[in-house]
Amino acid sequence: MNTGRLIACHECDLLQREAPLTGEGVLRCCRCGAELYRHHPDSLDRALAYTLTCIVLFVIGNAYPIVGLSVNGDLVQTTLLGAVRALYTDGMWPIAGLVFVTTFLMPLMQMSAIAYLLVPLRLRRLPYRADIVFRMLHLARPWGMTEVLILGMLVALVKLAHIASVVPGVALWTFAALMLLLAAASAAFDPHELWQRIGGHSRSAPGPEELAAASARTAMASGLMTCHSCGLLTKTGPHVHEASCPRCGAHLHERKPASFARTWAFLIAAMVLYIPANMLPVMNTSSLFGSEKDTILSGVVYLWTSGSWPLAIIVFIASIAVPMLKILAIMFLVISTQRRSVALLQQRTRIYRVVELVGRWSMLDIYVITILVALVQFNALATIQAGPAAVAFGAVVVLTMFAAMSFDPRLIWDANESNHG
Ligand SMILES: [Zn+2]
Ligand SMILES: [Zn+2]
Repeated sequence: MNTGRLIACHECDLLQREAPLTGEGVLRCCRCGAELYRHHPDSLDRALAYTLTCIVLFVIGNAYPIVGLSVNGDLVQTTLLGAVRALYTDGMWPIAGLVFVTTFLMPLMQMSAIAYLLVPLRLRRLPYRADIVFRMLHLARPWGMTEVLILGMLVALVKLAHIASVVPGVALWTFAALMLLLAAASAAFDPHELWQRIGGHSRSAPGPEELAAASARTAMASGLMTCHSCGLLTKTGPHVHEASCPRCGAHLHERKPASFARTWAFLIAAMVLYIPANMLPVMNTSSLFGSEKDTILSGVVYLWTSGSWPLAIIVFIASIAVPMLKILAIMFLVISTQRRSVALLQQRTRIYRVVELVGRWSMLDIYVITILVALVQFNALATIQAGPAAVAFGAVVVLTMFAAMSFDPRLIWDANESNHG
């Protein structure tokens, strides 16, 4: 008989016995296929090595210019933070804030949190208040968008090459390396092993009475709750609404609170803003030959007609297709779940996973505009400014991300449970 620890799937709430992984491998939910956890040998040491390298690259990447533009012998350059400042002084503080948070603050928080947790463990000490830092890491993860920034830089380079000669800066290569190492660090970091090393798990692993209570198929039906941050399974107490995880301190709930209402609220706000985001100009270019206002779509058309059709396709997918499909997909998930449909449970869970994964790529256009605004500032010759649609568009991306985060995929499977009786 399998005597592994009891764990609950975070996407369908099914209770399962943990199969111990000795070598490299991934443990998946036997019902919905969600990744329960991933095991690498010496995962924490590898995560630490990657992260320390990332911190060095991050410092270099922010100290040197990303790209320069040479016009009539003058070289105009910008760093990432310089580009953020240019947007801010232009009055585009919502976009400046969004770019600062997603490309500087959140990646920094992610790297420092991993280093904070792993350096002491490596020196055989316990990190102080690991619970708070672990939650910070969990919070920062979905919002760090270095990989999207890289693609944005490339698109901006192609657009700039039409205006003047472009000089790629040191930071461009540094950020590309940073992107790969951040992904490696994130993949190697195993929260499971972290908590095992910290030792907090002995106190909070389900005791015999919890295991006895686990008579039903799902955690909720067995009176258990999973921590959405660290995955620990705990017994549902009488005060469900004030419960917090004994291991990492995150707020505990059987299902995300008011999931449908909140998802709808974010979704409707996103749909409303999707209209100005596509109708209004996203970028104003003024030059000697007059001024030109570009919408998102006309930017795609421009890339297409100027011969950069691979980039035109990428920008079209990221900025027009993804936000629209994402809104429709979440709407489909919420409506079908509210109607307690038991059809296509696995496929709907898969749609949810894809939606969570691809939404961030819509930020592409925001990054392209950021770099263009920072570099094309030749008062007499040409100036590029961000238009009002940029703010609306940034809001659509953030709102659809919030909508996806508010939706609880376990609700999809709850309909199945109640039908089984
Ligand atoms: Zn599952
Ligand atoms: Zn927890």
